[in-house]
Amino acid sequence: MLAVYPGSFDPITLGHLDVIERGCRLFDRVVVAVLRNPNKTPLFTVAERMEQIRQATSHLPNLEVDSFDGLTVNYAKMRQAKVLLRGLRVLSDFELELQMAHTNKTLSNHVETLFLATSTEYGFLSSSLVKEIARFGGTIDHFVPRHVALDIYRCYAKTQPVSAPIVDSPIQEQPPMAPVEETSLDQGI
Ligand code: ADP
Repeated sequence: MLAVYPGSFDPITLGHLDVIERGCRLFDRVVVAVLRNPNKTPLFTVAERMEQIRQATSHLPNLEVDSFDGLTVNYAKMRQAKVLLRGLRVLSDFELELQMAHTNKTLSNHVETLFLATSTEYGFLSSSLVKEIARFGGTIDHFVPRHVALDIYRCYAKTQPVSAPIVDSPIQEQPPMAPVEETSLDQGI
């Protein structure tokens, strides 16, 4: 059975990778599908994100990386996938994920949304958090694959020259982060 794991992956984190690896053990084939979302201003282009995912998943023979736009269920139908894979972290994920799953069910009865609960060590981890930490000079090596960390450091070094990531700086000493507000429309259904 084929499963599609859709998302922004801007960039891929170890939390995403954990879901991907577990998905690859459950399904014959998994397609990580990077959404081309005009409502978001990403740090990395779709091509860069796909390459980051490819490098991070080269050890998984039943994994494919693709991109799509439009409705996720239409992409799933086009790929003849019966399952949409999603990760669930904290309670706040639940409301939006459930809304998307219900909406997708009304759009197609042939595609089921399947949630994998995050592994406990990645429950707090998001792409936005990683970018915020890196933007303020913190180290992110324990949150993302090494090549992705280097890409992120390189990105922020261009806009804000930081000589080296601050390795031992506790997160609470960083300037307060602006809340990341995302509407369901931004998520892409
Ligand atoms: P989106 O823009 O659709 O939220 P993301 O790239 O942020 O896309 O996430 C894609 C999927 O991966 C979502 O189902 C999200 O809940 C899940 N996910 C994100 N971070 C983690 C994590 N740390 N652990 C488990 N699942 C995660």
